Amino acid sequence: MQSFQGKSVYKGIVMGPVVVLKKNDYQVKRSRIEDADAETSRVQEAVKRSQEQLQKLYDKALKEVGEASAAIFEVHQMMLEDEDYLEAIQNMIQTEMVNAEYAVAVTGDNFSQMFASMDDDYMKARAADIKDISERLVRNLSGQEDADLSDIDPSVIVADDLSPSETVQMDKEKILAFVTVHGSTNSHTAILARMMNIPALIGVPLALDELKNGTTAVVDGFTGQVTFEPDEETQAATLKRVQEEKEKLALLQELKGKENITLDGKKINIYANIGSVGDIGYVLENDAGGIGLFRSEFLYLGRNDFPTEEEQFQAYKQVVQTMAGKKVIIRTLDIGADKQVDYFNLGNEENPALGYRAIRICLKQPDIFKTQLRALFRAAVYGNLSIMYPMITSVEEVEKIYEIVKEVEIELKAQEIQYRIPEQGIMIETPAAVMISDRLAEMVDFFSIGTNDLTQYTLAIDRQNEKLDDFYNPHHEAVLRMIQMVVDNAHKCGKWAGICGELGADLTLTEKFVRMGLDELSVAPSMILKLRKIVREMKAED
Ligand code: PEP
Ligand code: MG
Repeated sequence: MQSFQGKSVYKGIVMGPVVVLKKNDYQVKRSRIEDADAETSRVQEAVKRSQEQLQKLYDKALKEVGEASAAIFEVHQMMLEDEDYLEAIQNMIQTEMVNAEYAVAVTGDNFSQMFASMDDDYMKARAADIKDISERLVRNLSGQEDADLSDIDPSVIVADDLSPSETVQMDKEKILAFVTVHGSTNSHTAILARMMNIPALIGVPLALDELKNGTTAVVDGFTGQVTFEPDEETQAATLKRVQEEKEKLALLQELKGKENITLDGKKINIYANIGSVGDIGYVLENDAGGIGLFRSEFLYLGRNDFPTEEEQFQAYKQVVQTMAGKKVIIRTLDIGADKQVDYFNLGNEENPALGYRAIRICLKQPDIFKTQLRALFRAAVYGNLSIMYPMITSVEEVEKIYEIVKEVEIELKAQEIQYRIPEQGIMIETPAAVMISDRLAEMVDFFSIGTNDLTQYTLAIDRQNEKLDDFYNPHHEAVLRMIQMVVDNAHKCGKWAGICGELGADLTLTEKFVRMGLDELSVAPSMILKLRKIVREMKAED
């Protein structure tokens, strides 16, 4: 039995087998082989295994995100059957007597470069796909663990760190807990853990190479400790605590169907934050009044090209239809900073958090923005959809957004496509937006305060920098005063204001937020009933 101390980013306790996700830092080495036929059969086996993995990914994507998004895995399967590609690998093994990994990696690079230099945009985009399938083949050849978790039992995921695009591809049914060596409290892994209601630890000083898949682990999100190979006594104590937690959760279930109303009659909306269509199950399960933040950029992550208007339309439509008349606030894409996507070609920036991100990309590259707006306006016909724009700093940005909205509306009308321009709000997540919130309130339908970024920009603390976790204090008086200012300015104009950042789920502040006059708190689905309990047991007038 061995224990390690980390920092908990979400409470809960579980016991289960470990799956170690290693970063793709594997270096392909060239080595001389004696038996070219044996090496070629290894390639054939790796191709077979890759095909099986891709089929599983296709089936999963089809179920969760629809046919259009799943198609990429079909394309990969087809590429793996390409005779030119497979022959090039085989020739290299036979003529140069080199190992299969090396032959695949070099052939993959060559083909990828060839595609990248083509004139046709579609063919150019295939360069990334060739790279992807070659990396998958190398992984299968070298026996590395694939990040494809489709055929594991529910497990504790242990990794160095997890990027948003890695987490978005995971099968959430298969994850019991996250344990990472790096990562900050405010990373999207932490957000995902809260969404899934599973314990998550960061900053755990582990040597991943020494940890074997299948090792039993106890992850304690209350103490921040992970224990490998627990002795019998620890196992028994853990099972007892798991049961106690289940009972507590069951008590909360009694609050389902009840209003979020204080003892003296003040109501507040409690909505859910989601990152993908697949999260709606959590929203319904936890009886959310609506969706206060759909992070639409997750539709753009973990793929090789922009999602089309049709793919986006289908995703948004599915969400609003499933929510059956309840409010669904979809945030326009918030790419940049920690959410990097290769095909956006954003380039390296000295200060990505202060860089080219979110609405700035949309205003500079209106074609990307317009595609999303078209999909949103079309989906708005099918339910109670609202839109909000992230990272606003000025009145001029909102004016520019409205100009683009107008252009899109004219296009849709001319094309006789069904649409509706829905309620439009903005996120307040920069100090600039707070300071001019009186003017912004006149222009928009609502405010949703993004406390994660607002804290980062107010305290000048990079939310991704794990060294600064002790300084990242969203309870800072400056942040709380800003929230009050935003609420007051919204109300003066007859608009509503909510919080969709992680602070909205801070149970030590729920009473304060209700008294400050917030109209809405949008939180991880797993927090909804916990907030409801506090609201129903408090008085707004103290
Ligand atoms: C925020 O900044 O508080 C927010 C909700 O947006 P994100 O965490 O996605 O940046
Ligand atoms: Mg933000």
